Amino acid sequence: MKPGKELLFLALGGSAEIGMNVNLYGCDGKWLMVDLGMTFGANEYPGTELVFADLDFIEERKADLIGIVLTHAHEDHIGAAPYFAEELGVPLYATPFTAKLVNEKLEEAGAHVELNVIDHLDRFELGPFGIRYVPLAHSIAEGNALVIDTPYGNIFHTGDWKLDDAPLVGTPATQAELTAIGDDGVLAMVCDSTNVFNPNASGSEGEVRTALIDEVKRHTGRRVVVTTFASNVARLQTLGEVALASHRKLCVAGRSLDRIIRVAKTCGYLSDMPQIIDFETAMSLPRGEVLVLATGGQGEPRAALGRISEGNHQIALEAGDVVLFSSRQIPGNEVAIGRIQNRLAERDITIVTDRQAEIHVSGHPGRPELEALYSWIRPEILVPVHGEVRHMKEQARLGKACGIPKSVFQQNGDLVRLAPGKPGKISEVRAGRLILDGDIISAANGEAIVMRRRLAQNGVVIVVIDGKGRVQVEGLGLPLDEDYADFTAEAREDVAAAVAKLKGGQRHDRDVISEAARLAARRAAKRWSGKQPQVKVILPEG
Ligand SMILES: [Zn+2]
Ligand SMILES: [Zn+2]
Repeated sequence: MKPGKELLFLALGGSAEIGMNVNLYGCDGKWLMVDLGMTFGANEYPGTELVFADLDFIEERKADLIGIVLTHAHEDHIGAAPYFAEELGVPLYATPFTAKLVNEKLEEAGAHVELNVIDHLDRFELGPFGIRYVPLAHSIAEGNALVIDTPYGNIFHTGDWKLDDAPLVGTPATQAELTAIGDDGVLAMVCDSTNVFNPNASGSEGEVRTALIDEVKRHTGRRVVVTTFASNVARLQTLGEVALASHRKLCVAGRSLDRIIRVAKTCGYLSDMPQIIDFETAMSLPRGEVLVLATGGQGEPRAALGRISEGNHQIALEAGDVVLFSSRQIPGNEVAIGRIQNRLAERDITIVTDRQAEIHVSGHPGRPELEALYSWIRPEILVPVHGEVRHMKEQARLGKACGIPKSVFQQNGDLVRLAPGKPGKISEVRAGRLILDGDIISAANGEAIVMRRRLAQNGVVIVVIDGKGRVQVEGLGLPLDEDYADFTAEAREDVAAAVAKLKGGQRHDRDVISEAARLAARRAAKRWSGKQPQVKVILPEG
């Protein structure tokens, strides 16, 4: 499928799910990729953490791919670049902060990719596409929308965004600038759906600063730890100001915080961050004179907060000290976060979350912000992305209610024609998920994962039949404890009997022997435990 005289849109990831954003635009024979993200698997695929979009469609057409434009540096937009960008063999484009973080990841992975830093807001051209970055506020430095102009109309690709009157870091496009983009005419707006069910605007970083100062000041004489996403540079800026306003010295615990602060400073951010003290100095100061920034607010057990909660970190807390969660609970992480909060509570450490105080705001637009942006951009077509089905359907409804003439509901793999003619899905292409399993990237629901799930559910029984017909049986993961020896004895007899019952040619047919042994062992396990384990039969060579 080569794009003809038309404008196409295709999500390979990030539509009908939140995470691993990979979007393609097709026009006049060429494809342009916007973002190359990944997802954290949240135990969906046992033994793995990273999930990627299946890029088979574009890998087969990489001769027609002309570049990958990255909107911002969140993992769900850049995380797959170290694994796939070299193979795709086209240049990456990113603004300076994003580019620095991507570059570190590429270097760590040993991937050789041309990375172009776009440090201006002027239009640049890639084949039939004209592209311009449009800064928007988000929960990371350098959130960007894109204006992509084509012979068939302009796209406004929002990326992840919010409206913020006091963003603290960066200079988002103004209402007037966004209205001017609308004045030029926008065929399609491809828009973030994450918070479409939020009836309120996301709120401003400036409000968070006020609330955090109030909250920290309330805990005089106590050691205060604040956890937040390392990549939220505006929040780090805020916390630097909170430390100054509450007359506390700032200490930073966690490698990802060290890294982001270093990269942010080289890009000109956080220049007025107070000096950071080390753990020893922090512990030697009176409790009420320290503010500790810590990673691990999503419950990661090995991150700083996890270790602090176990009393296993140089930063030690005691009863009455305070931990502020200046972050949202990412769905899927509730249990892990709860575990850390329970450990802190057990030690009578005070926990404050964004439910008790306004110490966090989201980086995604609520309904009032979506409505405002629609009214400025005035697209002809709305294409919701960056959401599960319910979020994207709801955004399509909201767009319609706000007078956007057309919307296109699409999911990963739906090839959509935006122009010419009536916009809509024209076909389906291969899309799916890959996982990083050990060092191997493979299909997310491939044989290994399917089997691993079964093993985890039911355990395994191994049957060995030697050259003299003697049988051994061992089980792993069966709930048999003291009955285990009796079970294996009975299973051995059952297997031997089942094999002995075979007649004529069956006695020499390895498949028949193996299947008879497998069924006999499985029945024995069912009888003894109620479980139906996987059974592996090993026969003598030959
Ligand atoms: Zn983001
Ligand atoms: Zn995102």
